[in-house]
Amino acid sequence: MPIPVQTVCPECGDTKALDQINDEQKQFLLESTSYHELYTELCHLKTIDQILRRFPGTKNRLIVSKTKRIGDGHDDPEAVKQIIRDSPGLHDFLAKSSFLFSARFPAVAKAVGQTEGNVQDGIMKCERCGHQYLILPFDYYMACG
Ligand SMILES: [Zn+2]
Repeated sequence: MPIPVQTVCPECGDTKALDQINDEQKQFLLESTSYHELYTELCHLKTIDQILRRFPGTKNRLIVSKTKRIGDGHDDPEAVKQIIRDSPGLHDFLAKSSFLFSARFPAVAKAVGQTEGNVQDGIMKCERCGHQYLILPFDYYMACG
């Protein structure tokens, strides 16, 4: 990890550069960062799940590209579009990723459940928020290799 180690709070956006950091803290930041990516994805997947429950017959192109099928039942194209518009980051997520929803949703939920405790009660917390775990900024994380 390049020193100083960069951290960011995903809640308030507070950033810090740390010169003094031990291996346990470095390990935590790597784990919390990958956890946070999965957690963000799980939020999107839950929204997709809600759309499919309310509008099982949706023909929305972005949704159907992940379910690979059009279901039977109620559809409201405008309402589906509105939910996607109102969910920050969801449109980009749907447009830029490729997966099968029925397989991805349980896999991500399981992975989040497995690391949740370690990260939520973790050793690196935001001094401003108090309870919120810290992560590595995306560019810095990528530079860690
Ligand atoms: Zn914070």
